[in-house]
Amino acid sequence: MSNLDNQAFWMPFSSNQAFKENPRMLVSAKDMHYITDNGQNLLDATSGLWCVNAGHCRPKIVEAIQRQANLMDYSPAFQMGHKDAFTLANRITNLAPGHLNHAFFCNSGSEGVDTSLKIALAYHRANGESSRTVFIGRERGYHGAGFGGISVGGITTNRKAFGSMLPRVDHLPDTHNIQHNSFSRGQPKWGAELADELEKRIISLHDASNIAAVIVEPLAGSTGVLVPPIGYLEKLRQICDKYKLLLIFDEVITGFGRTGPCFAADAVGVVPDMMIIAKGLTNGAVPMGAVLTRQDIYETIVNNSTPDTIEFFHGYTYSGHPLATAAALATLDTYEEEGLFTRSQEMSPYFEEAIHSLREFPNVIDIRNMGMVAGIELEPKVSSNTTLAYKAFLKCYNRGLLIRTTGNTIALSPPLIITKSQIEEIVEILGSALIEIDQ
Ligand code: PLP
Repeated sequence: MSNLDNQAFWMPFSSNQAFKENPRMLVSAKDMHYITDNGQNLLDATSGLWCVNAGHCRPKIVEAIQRQANLMDYSPAFQMGHKDAFTLANRITNLAPGHLNHAFFCNSGSEGVDTSLKIALAYHRANGESSRTVFIGRERGYHGAGFGGISVGGITTNRKAFGSMLPRVDHLPDTHNIQHNSFSRGQPKWGAELADELEKRIISLHDASNIAAVIVEPLAGSTGVLVPPIGYLEKLRQICDKYKLLLIFDEVITGFGRTGPCFAADAVGVVPDMMIIAKGLTNGAVPMGAVLTRQDIYETIVNNSTPDTIEFFHGYTYSGHPLATAAALATLDTYEEEGLFTRSQEMSPYFEEAIHSLREFPNVIDIRNMGMVAGIELEPKVSSNTTLAYKAFLKCYNRGLLIRTTGNTIALSPPLIITKSQIEEIVEILGSALIEIDQ
């Protein structure tokens, strides 16, 4: 592709100028690999963008999409339905913990976040508590790119160009602390007390009767793999219960086996009142997201209206799109038939051991992991606007390995079908890249 051919596409979350000077183009994918436009094989250590949990172009998913495209390409989602959307809602809610019995479909994580915030407001209003409009997010949180998501999110670069956002939002402190927790394996021991900030500062400042919901990623991924300290999410749950605040888990990247069991909520034994899912729901093959809600949240909103009226004025043209539901059902079949959540749990000790072997490599200041996700944090050195982590990304790419970087952290989240020898390959290529960028 010449430099003139690639100008029209305004790339998301990318350095358009650098990319268009030096494009990296992918043309096909299969199982654990991408193939680039110059024929290079790339081992995918990132599941695309945290979504291809079952590996690329899996036959059952591909066939289901093809079959559905021939049968019915689109069906309206408002006042109409198609069977797969109802079947899928039943299947996901059966997988979800606790009383998360209803699914509202959307097309992405960002839409899921906005949907969950709107459900929280509508619920409190229907419940006679319309003063509850304050949302509590967390510093360094990533909840997508919509105005709702960047408001409750806490990544400075994602907020600073966009002026005022949702009013009445406050943030918990993030849970990252290298002094206490560096090189933790699994959930770090220190940090449960950070949840006390919700009660001590935030609730006393805003008053619980004004707060609608607390939204967190159980394990924060896009901000650099921040693993929840032992007891932290349990504490958030207790405080939310005490003051009747809804607790929303954004499981957009942690859903579908990433931390071991199906959801991170299962891994830590904490059931939220709402859960946002996307990405691994369709194995990334067709865009889709969903918000799972507690039974009584659905009932409170729906029963607050007479039977012939629309109860919740929200939804998307593509909510429950037939191609997405076909992809999602086939994805759930694939996870189940191949036992991929069990595989994730069985493979994660090997993954942990392998990743922590990079501890003594140049510039590594922390390694953290949970299930099949790991973060490797490097010294915050920047040369010519490029972090060491980004330099490592470029080196790895040239050597046939796709990693993801966020700030100074390298994030690894391979498809759950990865083999032990492919884990070793990741460590070998990454290790040599870390040595090379130090020279
Ligand atoms: N929430 C979390 C935790 C995410 O990691 C992401 C994306 O990475 C989103 C929301 C946004 O999802 P999408 O890009 O599908 O809108």
